[in-house]
Amino acid sequence: MAARIVIVGGGVGGLVVANRLALLAPDDGQITLVDATGWHTYQQGWLYVPFGEEQPKRLQKRLKSLVYDRVQVIAKPVTGIDLDNRIVHLNGDRLPYDFLVLATGCEPNPAEVPNLAEGAHHFHSADAAVRLREALANFEGGRIVVGVGGLPYKCPPSPIEFVCLLHEHLVRRGLRERTELVYATPLPRIFHIEPLVPIFEERFERFGIKLVPFFTLETFEPSQRKAFSLDGTELTADLFVLVPPHVGSEVARKLGIGDAKGFLPTDRHTLQVQGLERVYAIGDATNLTTPKAATAAQRQAFIAAENIVAELTGKELRRYNGQVGCVIEIGGGEATVASFDYDHPPHPPKPSKALFHQKRQLRRLYWQIVPPALG
Ligand SMILES: Cc1cc2nc3c(=O)[nH]c(=O)nc-3n(C[C@H](O)[C@H](O)[C@H](O)COP(=O)(O)OP(=O)(O)OC[C@H]3O[C@@H](n4cnc5c(N)ncnc54)[C@H](O)[C@@H]3O)c2cc1C
Repeated sequence: MAARIVIVGGGVGGLVVANRLALLAPDDGQITLVDATGWHTYQQGWLYVPFGEEQPKRLQKRLKSLVYDRVQVIAKPVTGIDLDNRIVHLNGDRLPYDFLVLATGCEPNPAEVPNLAEGAHHFHSADAAVRLREALANFEGGRIVVGVGGLPYKCPPSPIEFVCLLHEHLVRRGLRERTELVYATPLPRIFHIEPLVPIFEERFERFGIKLVPFFTLETFEPSQRKAFSLDGTELTADLFVLVPPHVGSEVARKLGIGDAKGFLPTDRHTLQVQGLERVYAIGDATNLTTPKAATAAQRQAFIAAENIVAELTGKELRRYNGQVGCVIEIGGGEATVASFDYDHPPHPPKPSKALFHQKRQLRRLYWQIVPPALG
């Protein structure tokens, strides 16, 4: 059968699955990658935008320039998907499929917390990161609260990385002594992954960052510069940087098969969408317990591509083991790494300069390493 394979979403997951299929799928298969923007974004780079170390424009490349010749790219938003009749709708156009991969990611949803959008900054979109850069440029000292504005969100360690980099930014600008740094989280401790706790705690101690656990943000009062938690605790600051809770993309939510936030019910091993045939979901769009991270999306893309080929050629499906690995910057020119899967917890190494350089190098080499999906 000349299979028509449609991939929705050209982020890490969608781009890698398309290119992996271009390398593996039988020659008569058609591979179509649809993305609302037509661009691939290296979102990890948004972490550095508020400090003026990156520019959003430099973090994007046209999908057409990143795919193998066999992959057809359509730069249009998918407006709906008819799962019964296997048709992807693109504002009037119809795209029938035999196999579908949903890689539509997730997005910040500040509207979930009253006044969060008006009262707090974040760095989980290009525009928000640029606005935060401007706010930081105007900051002259005072109190900054950084933290988690709601769950889930992508890249769980990113607010901890941010507050450590912020400490160094303020030191460089001579403002650290005039600034109190507070980190607020709904968790009972600094981070949910236990082996990382002592590493992060040591860094907060060294940098003088105060931890406020059990802070489940309920509402915000921008005029009073106050954030209130569910249990009535209040935090006052001159600047808030709170990562908003995320939801699945609009098109995934509209499918009506996901959980309350639109995350798609996905088999944790085969990556098939539960209850549907020949439909896969990968990356941040899924309800998997794996952290929402590019390295997870990339790994899942390999498995989904191989499983589509296995279905086409009558072979056994491969199983994703939950693998994810994140290099985490913690300031002082050092980084650690959390690498784990469903059955094995991480054993993060002592923070080192070598890991820091690895993360910074990946930032430069990303375009050569990740999109080609070579292995
Ligand atoms: C600040 C920050 C730092 C991070 N740091 C790290 C890190 O150090 N390590 C790490 O592993 N991960 C990190 N991440 C997480 C990582 O970027 C995401 O987990 C990853 O991008 C998820 O890939 P994805 O393909 O699932 O989704 P995305 O990359 O978000 O892609 C989704 C795509 O779907 C498209 N789309 C959505 N709706 C439609 C529609 N209706 N029609 C067509 N297309 C649509 C979008 O245009 C987008 O291109 C970080 C994220 C942030 C924000």
